[in-house]
Amino acid sequence: MGVLFIACGPSGVGKTSLGRRLRQAHPQLTLSVSYTTRAARAGEVDGKDYHFVDEARFMRMRDNGEFAEWAKVHGNFYATPRSEITQAFARKEDVFFDVDYQGALQLQAAFPTESVSVLIAPPSLELLERRLRGRATDDEATIARRLDAALHELEQHGTCDYILINDDFEQAYQEFEHIYLAARKRGYLWVKAIEALLDQG
Ligand code: 5GP
Repeated sequence: MGVLFIACGPSGVGKTSLGRRLRQAHPQLTLSVSYTTRAARAGEVDGKDYHFVDEARFMRMRDNGEFAEWAKVHGNFYATPRSEITQAFARKEDVFFDVDYQGALQLQAAFPTESVSVLIAPPSLELLERRLRGRATDDEATIARRLDAALHELEQHGTCDYILINDDFEQAYQEFEHIYLAARKRGYLWVKAIEALLDQG
């Protein structure tokens, strides 16, 4: 059984960059591609960054039980397809998730022994605002909504296993990688690995 490695925290805080960097260094880690009803930003690729779908299709998939978790974030719907997890586990791979706190809670509840979650927090709200503006892909109203949501998201920090302040990216990445590597060595995973070994005997 693999590890479900979950990064949560406000948008603009660096979750995606940390996940992509971790994936480069650890090919046994799959990046989960979510479904969303939000419009694609310039440069985003359907099927790679997200599966971009309309609300009718999203709701159909949700009602068919195709999502491991789903949530409304900043006025749009987001969901993790169940198939990402089952396929990765069948390949004995780990999966990385970039989700909001509602998604993290649902994944942790559904996979209590496999999931490890890290809240990625900004060193200051000013810096987070600068990062959101630096993207230059969102309008003022969207940025204001995201900043508001960031405060709410940070209030939920108690639900995550770890917290990591993303001040310096390199240092944050080192810590992020350590948490991932430690998760792979957690006791219950070894119990399963040892049981599998004994089954062979
Ligand atoms: P963005 O629109 O900036 O890509 O993402 C907005 C927020 O939605 C981010 O906080 C991101 O972590 C969250 N998000 C992305 N995919 C999912 C998902 O599949 N489920 C949930 N619950 N949140 C997601």
